[in-house]
Amino acid sequence: MKLVTFYSGRGINIVKGENQYVWDDKGNKYLDLHAGHGVAFLGHNNKTIVRYLEKQMSEIMTLTTAFNTPIREEMLKELDKVKTGNLDNVFLLNSGSEAVELAMKSARKITGRKKFIAFKNSFHGRTSGSLSVTWTKRYREPFEPLLGPVDFLDFNNIDELKKIDENTAAIIVEPVQGEGGVIPAKEDFMKALKEVSQDKGALLIVDEVQSGFGRTGRVWAHQHFGIVPDIMTAGKAIGGGFPVSAVFMPDWIAEKLGEGDHGTTYGGNPMAAAAVTAATKVLVEENVAEQAKEKGEIFMRMLKDSLGDFKSVREIRGLGLMIGIDLRLNPAHAIKVLQDSKILSLKAGLTVIRFLSPYMITQEDMEMVVNAARKGISETESKAVTS
Ligand code: PMP
Repeated sequence: MKLVTFYSGRGINIVKGENQYVWDDKGNKYLDLHAGHGVAFLGHNNKTIVRYLEKQMSEIMTLTTAFNTPIREEMLKELDKVKTGNLDNVFLLNSGSEAVELAMKSARKITGRKKFIAFKNSFHGRTSGSLSVTWTKRYREPFEPLLGPVDFLDFNNIDELKKIDENTAAIIVEPVQGEGGVIPAKEDFMKALKEVSQDKGALLIVDEVQSGFGRTGRVWAHQHFGIVPDIMTAGKAIGGGFPVSAVFMPDWIAEKLGEGDHGTTYGGNPMAAAAVTAATKVLVEENVAEQAKEKGEIFMRMLKDSLGDFKSVREIRGLGLMIGIDLRLNPAHAIKVLQDSKILSLKAGLTVIRFLSPYMITQEDMEMVVNAARKGISETESKAVTS
């Protein structure tokens, strides 16, 4: 049997992980700023998460939400500690894309409208619904017709919001665009989005699958902008490595959804509930968001000081520990040099080197990244000159 994968291979065989590091089968240690596309934000082999999962595994692994189980009660109590605004209800699913699907379905059912507004450079997933609001043509075109209509507007451009009309079921936005190039939203833009959504009777879906759970320096990235979404999606870091995602909503939306509107065999299974419980405990007890804020500021300053003068560096940007170096050249070689220097990173958009660091990254780790990035970027520049 051969494994089908749609990701280009990195050529290394990872056998274990501990905190911010992973090891390959040859014993090489890597600083993991790829972190499974940001999933391992709380670190690999996090002891609290492992303990909760092991205990749960030995008690009961599978139950649909038709049955109560204590771990779910514990999870709900934990999630209360990281609640945003009036989003008092949570539905659990298994992947970010699936959470976006439910958010979109909910918006259609509640508003009775069909249209979605999304933004250029957005990424919301690759199932048919979530793909419909994902900007990248290359991902969308082979699978059309998708769900429609969808209008893609310029991100961070308030003027564009005039185009939003009363046929809109929902506006979907990432508070920091991740896959599209690590582009933080502007505060006045997010505030304007909230206003327009209220004026037009459309729902505001904030997709926090990548930006959420402490990474940007607040538990939820939209909290930087002083707004509360109508619906929020979360995933990746919320399970501390276990596949689980979530849709958060206020009472008035939850009350309008009922039996048959959605369902998934694994959604909210006891293992996922244990993972979310443990991850939330770590997030709160270790002040993870605060640490991400402080470390993100240090990391950003170091990167700007050391790399800001390169001709090929267009911008270094981000929020907390969600950081991108936007180049005027293809970042592939620099990402390869980083990997050869035992640092895993990932691409975003066409030109960005992205770092999705676990929160326990140290200053020493950051220095290593800065040095390897210097090497990678200067080699990229000299290759561009000679080619
Ligand atoms: N939304 C956002 C903002 C994402 O970054 C991603 C994944 N990169 C998704 C949705 C889809 O999540 P998943 O891959 O878990 O389906």
